[in-house]
Amino acid sequence: ETGEALLEVNNIEVIYNHVILVLKGVSLSVAKGGITALLGGNGAGKSTTLKSISNLLRSERGEVTKGSILYKGERIQDLSPADLVERGVVQVMEGRHCFEHLTIEENLLTGAYTRKDGAKATQDDLELVYSYFPRLKERRRSQAGYTSGGEQQMCAIGRAMMARPEMILLDEPSMGLAPQLVEEIFGIVKSLNEDEGVSFLLAEQNTNVALRFAHRGYILESGRVVMDGPAKELRENPDVKEFYLGMS
Ligand code: ATP
Repeated sequence: ETGEALLEVNNIEVIYNHVILVLKGVSLSVAKGGITALLGGNGAGKSTTLKSISNLLRSERGEVTKGSILYKGERIQDLSPADLVERGVVQVMEGRHCFEHLTIEENLLTGAYTRKDGAKATQDDLELVYSYFPRLKERRRSQAGYTSGGEQQMCAIGRAMMARPEMILLDEPSMGLAPQLVEEIFGIVKSLNEDEGVSFLLAEQNTNVALRFAHRGYILESGRVVMDGPAKELRENPDVKEFYLGMS
């Protein structure tokens, strides 16, 4: 992690359907080369924050009505999700966002659609993804819909990697997965961060695992950041222990 901010969210407000105020002034920053965790319970506004950054709100009748979002110092609020992918910002949505009727390999290849550097580079990146996710290599000819939840989550992250991202917005990677698989996936995220230099902003309800792998964390409650700091400090904070780690 470096001190330099890659992404800065300044005091954003988000309204759905013109009336429902969901984010009430959220500010956060993601360090270049870091893993930043966005924590909080159901409905706290984690997904809304990620979708504000990747500009996927509009399709859900949501709108950023205040504040600014800067990537490398430039406003990105008016860029389409596809423009953002070209600039290196890719979101992995919550749930299983693979194409069920395509094979794992075909799914991975769809992640390279915005790239213009040719078939050889795409093939090299496919091998790179397989080196991080050997399970995907084993399953590459399987139809994604018939693979396990963990393999589909890996496929979604692998597909994001095929766009050569600088930053991945990862929504609830642990959802519905057995603890051992959650560890495996977070371990791979950590290697992608350390070895490929990809920065992550990840939304998680699983505070325990997220704070073990992240460098920094923000805790959201009802659309506001109520606490933030280095992951190590949050892990040791008595309120976090009591309310989010169940260790009172
Ligand atoms: P979860 O883990 O359940 O996804 P979250 O912290 O990611 O929780 P959000 O999905 O961002 O929370 O939702 C925050 C609030 O916004 C919730 O109260 C939710 O009901 C509301 N909300 C989300 N999407 C919409 C929408 N399209 N229209 C209206 N309200 C919405």
